[in-house]
Amino acid sequence: MDLRCKLYQSMTLNKDKQEQVFEENRKAQRAGESYRLGIMGGTFDPVHYGHLAVAETVYWKMDLGSVMFVPSRQPPHKKERWISPVEHRYQMTLLATASNPHFWVSRQEIERSGYSYAIDTVREVKRIFGPHLEAYFIVGTDALLDLLSWKDIVELIDLCFFIVASRPGYDFIEARPNHLFSDRGEKIKTVEVPSLAISSTDIRERVIRGKPIRYLLPEAVEQYIWSSQLYSAV
Ligand code: NAP
Repeated sequence: MDLRCKLYQSMTLNKDKQEQVFEENRKAQRAGESYRLGIMGGTFDPVHYGHLAVAETVYWKMDLGSVMFVPSRQPPHKKERWISPVEHRYQMTLLATASNPHFWVSRQEIERSGYSYAIDTVREVKRIFGPHLEAYFIVGTDALLDLLSWKDIVELIDLCFFIVASRPGYDFIEARPNHLFSDRGEKIKTVEVPSLAISSTDIRERVIRGKPIRYLLPEAVEQYIWSSQLYSAV
């Protein structure tokens, strides 16, 4: 199947999955239960198997209903860096998540102007799905270290759970901003994910240097990178 067909198919599938999440959320609400939504925000430049393994592990260990991938339009912590246009990052994320029935991609941050703050995303999720929805914001250990600088962080911790995907051997307790979580201990949970030494930065550098990127990310994403000449022209 050529890339254009794969993209079209991924978009259609994504729409169906999104409708199913809305339906399951309504069902949970009628039954007086809470739908458990994982939120996997990221720059995804490009999305790779590290991201997918984190999302799948958290989905399974936290018994989530689904994981919503949210490509950031303008990540506030990457103001000085060049990043690929968000539509490319969105399409790669669609291709990467298409085959997983409980992964879907949201355009929320793409359609919002200005910097993509997590608090605005979680507020919008609660507005769309209702206050009963339980949001699980998935972050890596690096993001945890920066948490204090996030916009309206206290409100954000009150609105959602933080799931820290810890790499084996990393001292999660050391990195935790204790005073923020002292009386909100139940709001932050750690999930150990299989160690995958894959990073978007490394993949971009490999493309620039003509090194292989096969098996670091889904084949369709690799195909997208080559056909759009992403990174190689930087
Ligand atoms: P990213 O580089 O695209 O990666 C997404 C997440 O996956 C990160 O938490 C990252 O953790 C993790 N990850 C990547 N490769 C991994 C691997 N091989 N194994 C395990 N984990 C891996 O994400 P990002 O650009 O830093 O953004 C993360 C989220 O934080 C976004 O939703 C962003 O909007 C949000 N954020 C919000 C604010 C704010 O609201 N003020 C500020 C900063 C960030 P590591 O970082 O540990 O690699």
